[in-house]
Amino acid sequence: MLKRKIELEFTEYDDFNELDPADQHLVNEARRAVGHAYAPYSDFKVGAAVLLENGNIIIGSNQENAAYPSGLCAERVALFAAKSQFPDQKIIAVAIATAAGEITGEPIAPCGGCRQVFAEYGDQQPSEIVLLLAAGNLRVSRFEDARILLPGRFSWKDLKKGR
Ligand SMILES: [Zn+2]
Repeated sequence: MLKRKIELEFTEYDDFNELDPADQHLVNEARRAVGHAYAPYSDFKVGAAVLLENGNIIIGSNQENAAYPSGLCAERVALFAAKSQFPDQKIIAVAIATAAGEITGEPIAPCGGCRQVFAEYGDQQPSEIVLLLAAGNLRVSRFEDARILLPGRFSWKDLKKGR
């Protein structure tokens, strides 16, 4: 028997001004996207901003629907839009912000489905996708590699093994 341990390391910034200016800009773009959210059912508005290698920033917000499963999280809206428009561009960083975070001071955490998407796009490129989870002006968590948020994930390599 072998016990294994998975550790997760990230940096937490208590002061927004400690963040690199490029990170601040990306978080502010995610905050701006919060205002575009369509969340009449949950009233939980989220914004995301994806920075690509070419400097473009693609924003997204959560989009809900009366047929609940038809909606989509802000970060997946932004990631899919970015990859649809710029399929060959590396993703440098993604910032996620929420209106609730402004009140609670707690950084927003991506759902499992979004973590899976981060992981797969991360696997497809040579450099890591930085992930910034923001809570208002109070705290920002910075993950150097978004893939660490989903250890033991399903991947295309597993899919190939099963064939
Ligand atoms: Zn999600």
